[in-house]
Amino acid sequence: MGCSVTTGTTVRVVNPKGHQVVDLWAFVESDPTEYLSMAHNRTAHYTTRFQAGHVLVSNRFMKLLRFIEDTTDGLHDSFHAACSAQSYAHFGSDRQYPNCEDNLQKTLHDAGIAFQITPPPWNLFEKSFVDEDGLIHDGSTSAKAGDYVELNAECDLFMVFSACRSTIGNIQGGDPAGAQIHIQNRQT
Ligand SMILES: [Zn+2]
Repeated sequence: MGCSVTTGTTVRVVNPKGHQVVDLWAFVESDPTEYLSMAHNRTAHYTTRFQAGHVLVSNRFMKLLRFIEDTTDGLHDSFHAACSAQSYAHFGSDRQYPNCEDNLQKTLHDAGIAFQITPPPWNLFEKSFVDEDGLIHDGSTSAKAGDYVELNAECDLFMVFSACRSTIGNIQGGDPAGAQIHIQNRQT
């Protein structure tokens, strides 16, 4: 799903039953070629794991989202590309699911946003880590039922969320169970 959020809006991404990775994108409302970029955030914050207190930036280092609260153990992947028809083929999966890249592109299209690139998303609740040899490892999400991440918009954004269906790497730790998005506009 996608929605416009104005500056000051609070966005809470909830994992109602656990077992759900949620891909998140954020685009600047006035210019979607400026968007939340994982590479720029790793550079800006010198970490691979963003946490409450960080202000997440765009591909032009503009402040987009303030990370307010996180009830999980803080493991949210910033490495992996969105799942797609091509990624399922790449990993030899003989099943095709509704995938996150298609979800993003359909949401942008339906919103009238002509932007056909899929930035690598911030994969909330997805457990990944890098070992000392530089290899990336996946684990099953440790998000429990009711866990959430709360963000605050630093500028006007169009945000997209995709409850990932992928079970490659057993990242969900079970069958994907869905997500909830709570939007609270700034009180004026
Ligand atoms: Zn996915």
